Amino acid sequence: MYASKKEKLANGNLVTEYVNTHGDRIRIQPIGGCANSCRFCSCNDKSYIKYDINTLDKAFKIAKEEGKENIRHVLISGGTPKQQDYDYMTQVYTYFIKTYKELEFDIMMAPRGFKSSKDLNDYKYYIEYLEQIGVYGLSINIELYNDEFRKKYIPQKNEIGLQNYIAFLENAVNKLGTKRVRSCIIVGLEPIEDTIKGVELLCQIGCIPVLSPYVPKVRSYQNSKVYLDTMLKVREQAEKISNKYNVPLGPLCKQCSYNTI
Ligand code: SF4
Repeated sequence: MYASKKEKLANGNLVTEYVNTHGDRIRIQPIGGCANSCRFCSCNDKSYIKYDINTLDKAFKIAKEEGKENIRHVLISGGTPKQQDYDYMTQVYTYFIKTYKELEFDIMMAPRGFKSSKDLNDYKYYIEYLEQIGVYGLSINIELYNDEFRKKYIPQKNEIGLQNYIAFLENAVNKLGTKRVRSCIIVGLEPIEDTIKGVELLCQIGCIPVLSPYVPKVRSYQNSKVYLDTMLKVREQAEKISNKYNVPLGPLCKQCSYNTI
């Protein structure tokens, strides 16, 4: 959409290596590649690299300038950092949120504290810190509910444990409120009943579920009819649960719903 698609920084890399614009949102990717190896994702095909904050900021300024008054919010996402890079990610969050106070910042990440991916106390202090620096929203994606599928498709996230995802999300909802905390669930990989259990679990704790269609690394349209039926069924059942708990299905931003059901 914007010229930054072709624009390069002085280091010869495309601006889109670091930032992308979708509608009224800029997405920042502080990590190239990923520490995790989720089986459906092509992000981890690339080598793991931390981008420095100055370079990210130069790319961000170009996207912001091109988007002008259209830009309303920012998502910091991309690959999951290695634990040794937790401090670096905290520096990225702090720098951007404090520097560009006029924009709403959402962070997409796995549950984590300052130092640990499993310590519940550390979760609590980290969420408090993010709230204090001014984060708008958090997206902590459970992705799958069924243990066997979690183990097979998202091994590192499964190691953190679904119960820790839920504990993190509960803390986040308590601190930020329902409208500012969401979680993606992939539709089309595990049995529908499990996806629905995941939706109900999120609604029970006041977290907004986001239904995200499964997109395999190698795409095929062979079973597209079956797949469409699955998506429709899940959407219908998820809407009933959403009404029962009075928790909306996300995302709440219309322009950000292009890759959701
Ligand atoms: S953690 Fe996210 S970016 Fe990394 S491999 Fe899994 S889905 Fe892809």
